[in-house]
Amino acid sequence: MSDLRSRFAHEPEYLQAVEEVLTSIEEVYNQHPEFERYNLIERLCIPDRIFTFRVSWIDDEGQVRTNMAYRIQHNNAIGPYKGGVRFHSSVNQSILKFLAFEQTFKNSLTTLAMGGAKGGSDFSPKGKSNMEIMRFCQAYVAELWRHIGPDTDVPAGDIGVGGREVGFMYGMYKKMARENTGTFTGKGMEFGGSLIRPEATGYGNVYFLLNMLATRGIDIKGKRVAISGSGNVAIYTAEKLMQLGARVVTMSDSDGTIYLPEGLTQEQYEYLFELKVYYRGRLREFAEKYGCEYFDRGKPWHVPCDIAMPSATQNELDGDDARALLANGVIAVSEGANMPSTPEAVHAFLDAKILYAPGKAANAGGVAVSGLEMAQNAQKMSWTAQEVDQRLKDIMANIHAQCCKYGQNPDGTVNYVKGANVAGFMKVARAMMAQGVL
Ligand code: NDP
Repeated sequence: MSDLRSRFAHEPEYLQAVEEVLTSIEEVYNQHPEFERYNLIERLCIPDRIFTFRVSWIDDEGQVRTNMAYRIQHNNAIGPYKGGVRFHSSVNQSILKFLAFEQTFKNSLTTLAMGGAKGGSDFSPKGKSNMEIMRFCQAYVAELWRHIGPDTDVPAGDIGVGGREVGFMYGMYKKMARENTGTFTGKGMEFGGSLIRPEATGYGNVYFLLNMLATRGIDIKGKRVAISGSGNVAIYTAEKLMQLGARVVTMSDSDGTIYLPEGLTQEQYEYLFELKVYYRGRLREFAEKYGCEYFDRGKPWHVPCDIAMPSATQNELDGDDARALLANGVIAVSEGANMPSTPEAVHAFLDAKILYAPGKAANAGGVAVSGLEMAQNAQKMSWTAQEVDQRLKDIMANIHAQCCKYGQNPDGTVNYVKGANVAGFMKVARAMMAQGVL
């Protein structure tokens, strides 16, 4: 870590993600001196390659605009590079390196053959017209297309990149590469997308939560759940929770949080879905329409709840937030976002021995169904929603079992952070050892 800290001092998110994994795997790593001989850690922490490039595009006023863009191919020991693309003004190399690093272990946990990658740009889709977004996506892929492919690197969505953006990027990719093998996942249903892919990350997180609750004999019905975010992950998390009889008491966006102590109603959910998915509106509008409490610039973590599911962005839940949740009696935290809890918050949850699932385990359902989309594209078939959903449930149960196997504490409780990191690491490590120094 000290070596990485001095080499990458300006990359705090990347160092944070690496430190968490290295701390968890220290014990198992030391049991394998051959790993050290192969310098496995350094080779695993530093991405295989990073593409950094300029994207120039023309806005609706005819002005030429320029953004920074990236694709990080982190590790392909167990399969083609695989990971989403993020468009957000905060995107930089540190954030994408942390995401690509996390993705490698997450993809390993899914049991599917996928390596780890991440990409993106500091382009913000907010306030841009459809045509501007299309021109930007095309310009991004005009550079990227030669480095990706169905058996090389398969991008998907993330913050700021949903079905619309994937459609634009895939269209451009097909034109440049002159092939039709489904190199992106999260595609529209008409051109190779998989049923349940939009829902997969949120549904998968709820399935993981159900597995955790079952270890303590707790029923989800009637539980108050605080969710952050109101994008792809958050919305389908809320949908599945409501189907199961839980009460969704908060949702948020980058401007504020809505609070509904009795839980979202079906009618409110439908309005919220339309507001966020179709119109990309603000939750403030929801609060005005329904007269509910709205915390301007506030986070969801200080209201009474039984379960918290952070589903917006990294480091959105800090030590104070964690202490407030614990003081309010939270029994489980299951992360839809990647690394939403700061290290201080993670320690607070682990010390309190609540059910705490890190994103790399709990939100792996999204990439798992992306893996299923790749399988369907390779077969030139599409599976039913029931079939995909059942596979998703099985995969989440399997990830939960792996966490329990490697993360069991002496008192019988489970450290899901350790379990996920060790299980994810061991598979990648064995694959790297078997393939020699590359
Ligand atoms: P979306 O862009 O669909 O939604 C993101 C949500 O988070 C929006 O409500 C957005 O608010 C809010 N948000 C974004 N940045 C911030 C910020 N800096 N502060 C406060 N709120 C913010 O993204 P996704 O739902 O796809 O992704 C959410 C998280 O889940 C990310 O961490 C992502 O990496 C992770 N994830 C996503 C997967 C997927 O399949 N999509 C798979 C696995 C993990 P606003 O509406 O104001 O922009």
